[in-house]
Amino acid sequence: MARTKGYPEALEKKLHDQRYYSEDSNPEFTKKVKAISRTIAHMCYQCGTCTGSCPSAPRSTYRIRKFMRRAVLGLENESLTDPDLWLCTTCYSCTDRCPRDIAPTDVIMAMRNLAFKRDIIPVNFLKTVQAIYSSGHGVPNNDVNRAARERLGLTRDPPTTHMYPEYIKGIQKILDHYKLKANADRIVKEREG
Ligand code: SF4
Ligand code: SF4
Repeated sequence: MARTKGYPEALEKKLHDQRYYSEDSNPEFTKKVKAISRTIAHMCYQCGTCTGSCPSAPRSTYRIRKFMRRAVLGLENESLTDPDLWLCTTCYSCTDRCPRDIAPTDVIMAMRNLAFKRDIIPVNFLKTVQAIYSSGHGVPNNDVNRAARERLGLTRDPPTTHMYPEYIKGIQKILDHYKLKANADRIVKEREG
């Protein structure tokens, strides 16, 4: 009992200390991330299980837990301008293991969507869009793979748009609907001339 005596008042005082607030905080960002990701990002209690499960963490400065904190605090610019945002492999290990049933992967995807709306996106992602548009594959088949497939007794091309290119039109229709290809072309041109 003695340990909790005066606790609410002390906490109240602490929370009114301006050092606990950031001017960069945008509550709308927290709401947008939640709406797009459809996950309860605000329930994150920073246990770190996500970062501990993340295959990108030991190889880079990327820390999913940090992005979860930024989502809760509404730190929009800090989130969207951090190049680490693009280091998630979308493996979903963090989502499988989060003890609060949050989907950190979807939080990252929501942030990437918001970043793309501001033209903040690495060129290699845009080139993947262009490759999907022209071939139906983010990583199209090549002669080395074709030879390897042949050695394994497989068809030289997999039974995808490589084998049935007539279906590429359908993929292009989807990308055109969301103006993904047009925006990818525009940004690549602006950056590379
Ligand atoms: S595992 Fe879940 S609760 Fe723990 S830090 Fe990551 S998102 Fe937050
Ligand atoms: S989905 Fe992304 S953030 Fe989550 S564990 Fe995999 S690489 Fe890390």
